[in-house]
Amino acid sequence: MTRKIAIYGKGGIGKSTTAQNTAAAMAHFHGKKIFIHGCDPKADSTRLILGGKPQETLMDVLREQGAEKVTNDKVIKTGFMGIRCVESGGPEPGVGCAGRGVITAIDLMEANGAYTSDLDFVFFDVLGDVVCGGFAMPIREGKAQEVYIVASGEMMAIYAANNICKGLVKFAKQSGVRLGGIICNSRKVDREKEFLDEFTSAIGTHMIHFVPRDNIVQKAEFNKKTVTEFDPAEKQAAEYSSLAQKIIENENFVIPKPLTMDELEAMVVKYGIAD
Ligand code: ADP
Ligand code: MG
Repeated sequence: MTRKIAIYGKGGIGKSTTAQNTAAAMAHFHGKKIFIHGCDPKADSTRLILGGKPQETLMDVLREQGAEKVTNDKVIKTGFMGIRCVESGGPEPGVGCAGRGVITAIDLMEANGAYTSDLDFVFFDVLGDVVCGGFAMPIREGKAQEVYIVASGEMMAIYAANNICKGLVKFAKQSGVRLGGIICNSRKVDREKEFLDEFTSAIGTHMIHFVPRDNIVQKAEFNKKTVTEFDPAEKQAAEYSSLAQKIIENENFVIPKPLTMDELEAMVVKYGIAD
């Protein structure tokens, strides 16, 4: 069975980096078949897998050539370790609703049978912390069954994670979507691990992995590669492999219990965190 996973988190927290590096490690070290569906109008969810090739987005093809031209051949590109990639793209800036594009793109991919049954995982890399409208699509209608939130010990990242959980609670009953855990993408904030451990247990989930901050990520990115493709012997590649393994074996799926603003602020004060 294909597991469909949505990655959420504050903008710039490292969703696309973590999703691609984890997918690459899943394919390389664990032999999994992966599809990445980028749901950010920035369309930068798959470039490390595709070696930086600019990808014609699904919305570009739709707008310029019409729905019948949105074929799998045209919009799905294959990169490192056979990982299949599509970017939803978005409307022209300032025109129309970007969230709408996410809905259209997922519907079209489903209609085209793009998420084939041989896949082990489909990753939806979803924009920012906006769990509304189109951006809630992957979790609202059961398009994804599992959510992982990327966060760090910075206040705004935790605030966003808590908000995403509030959104998730709203859809969990109807769609069956569950939170699989919080991925800490370290920003090297003091007592980051402790804080994330306390936050995750308070909302009823777990920190599935602590991904260290390491410049090799940027070095690989500069070479338009994931760390695993750039150098699988790097210790950061082992971190992504470990995260991949934990996701593969994960059995901790919950409807989270988001904190109230007061509870969240008390926790932030306790850890003395500033943004
Ligand atoms: P998002 O998709 O959440 O907006 P990105 O994945 O684009 O964020 O990440 C923003 C930047 O952070 C990237 O350019 C990447 O190089 C850097 N980054 C992410 N995770 C790490 C890490 N663990 N170590 C070092 N740099 C990282
Ligand atoms: Mg991104």
